[in-house]
Amino acid sequence: MDQWTAEKREDIVKRLHERGVNRPCPRCAGEAFSLVDGFAVFGMVEKLDDEAVRNLIPSVCVACNKCGYLTFHAIGPLGLLDKDQPPPPQDKQTTE
Ligand SMILES: [Zn+2]
Repeated sequence: MDQWTAEKREDIVKRLHERGVNRPCPRCAGEAFSLVDGFAVFGMVEKLDDEAVRNLIPSVCVACNKCGYLTFHAIGPLGLLDKDQPPPPQDKQTTE
C-alpha cells in the first residue's frame, strides 16, 4: 500500500478536528493520536450466516499513541467519499 501524503493526512486530521473529534482516549485518557495509513473497510451482513456482504463501510483509523486503542470514522460524513467511484453495494440499507 502506498503511504499517504502529508497533505492527505493533514486534510483528514483537519476534517476530524472540524467535527469536534478532539477528546482524550476513552481507555487511557492519553491525548496523542496517530492517523493510520489506509482505509479500514467494514463488511456488513444482515445475519451471521449470510455469505454475501451487503454493505461496505470505508473508514479511517486513529490509534492512541499510549495504549493503541483504535477508533474508526466512516469517511462519508467526513466528505471523503469519491464522487467518481461507484458507491459500495448497499441494497439493504433501509429497514422494510
Ligand atoms: Zn489510549
